[in-house]
Parts: sequence; C-alpha cells; structure tokens
Amino acid sequence: MEKFEELLANVSVTRIPVGRLSTNCYVVRSGTELMLIDPGMTQNRELEEVATVIESANARLRWVICTHGHIDHISGVDTIMKRFPYATLLMDPKEAELARDPATSYAVQLGSTYVMHAEASPLAAGQEISLGLITYRVATIVGHSPASTVLIAQDHTFVGDTLFAGGVGRAATRDAFEELLDGIRKTLMVLPPVTRIFPGHGEPTSISTELTTNRWL
Ligand SMILES: [Zn+2]
Repeated sequence: MEKFEELLANVSVTRIPVGRLSTNCYVVRSGTELMLIDPGMTQNRELEEVATVIESANARLRWVICTHGHIDHISGVDTIMKRFPYATLLMDPKEAELARDPATSYAVQLGSTYVMHAEASPLAAGQEISLGLITYRVATIVGHSPASTVLIAQDHTFVGDTLFAGGVGRAATRDAFEELLDGIRKTLMVLPPVTRIFPGHGEPTSISTELTTNRWL
C-alpha cells in the first residue's frame, strides 16, 4: 500500500488510500498527539498498515473522526477502536446513525454487511478539537450526506466527500446538490486561498486552485 506524507506548520499529515474506493484515511500528528480520520480499511493488511503507522509514530492516538457515515469512511472503525480503546471516536450524531444502518451507509451497495457498533461522542458545528499544538474548528456541510464534518485549521482543512480536486461530492437530489454547493461556497471558499485541502478521495488541493479551476465553484 502506498502512503503519502506532508509536513505543514506544526502538523504532519499521512494519507493512506484504503478500500475499494481508495478512500483517503489520514493519520495526523501534532506534537505528541495523533488523530485518525476516516478509517475506511476493509482488509486485515490495511488495518495492520494503518495501525503500524499509528503505533510507530511515538505519539498517542487521541481522536478518531469519521467525516460522514458512508461505508467507505467507517468500515475500519470498530477494529481501530478495539485496538486503541483509549482514543475517543467523534462523529456527528446524524452520521453515526447512517453508519449503523447498512442501507443508508451504502454498505449494501458495496456488497458489505458492515454496521458500526462503536460508541461515538457527538461532534457539532462550532466545536473546537485540540490536537497537540493546533486547534481544529468543526463545521458542517449538508448535501453529500446529512451532516458532513469539516475540520478547519489555520493552514489546512479536512473536507471528507464535500470537495475534491476539480470536483465536488455527489448528492442524491438536485436540492441536496444545491445545498452542498452552497455549503462549500460559504464554509470552504471563504478560507485563505493558500489553505491546503485534504479530501476524502484523490489528491490534496488548495482553495486557490479550486477557485480558479473547479467548474462547480
Ligand atoms: Zn461519501
């Protein structure tokens, strides 16, 4: 498996594409603390690889966060929480509900019966999450899913499946798609242009790149 590491101010971001849809699982380190975002691992070797990245970091896994409840972002949660029981799982309650139903998580469509069992502490817009030397502000974008979580730091942001390099997330209806675009414009496109964007799939990008090249925005 490939992994990609990036160094930003006070934080290092390791991106590990996992699962059939190459979901970006992120291990984020700041100071002596780690955060794991979107554990979409499905196979043992993927789970082992991500666990090894965490265990070899010489830092403590503090947070596990799922940006939303779709199966490709949650399928490794239970295994990770068993292996790192001292970490706290954070998820928007609406997304946790999705993750507990294989129909709404789209598990069924991917031929999986996975249902999330781990207990999640609630995440909500406006909340702040501290990790080592930095703080993330939590924002919510509606449209791709009922309440996708976006984590915003000073020079970077994790956006789940709301925004991609050159694209935006899917939505089930025309109205949901408009709501998604509106959320992206109001929440993400107002950030400083140099802000690094870490999406749920594909390569990282930046606000300035998307402002100039993304045909949806
Ligand atoms: Zn999704």
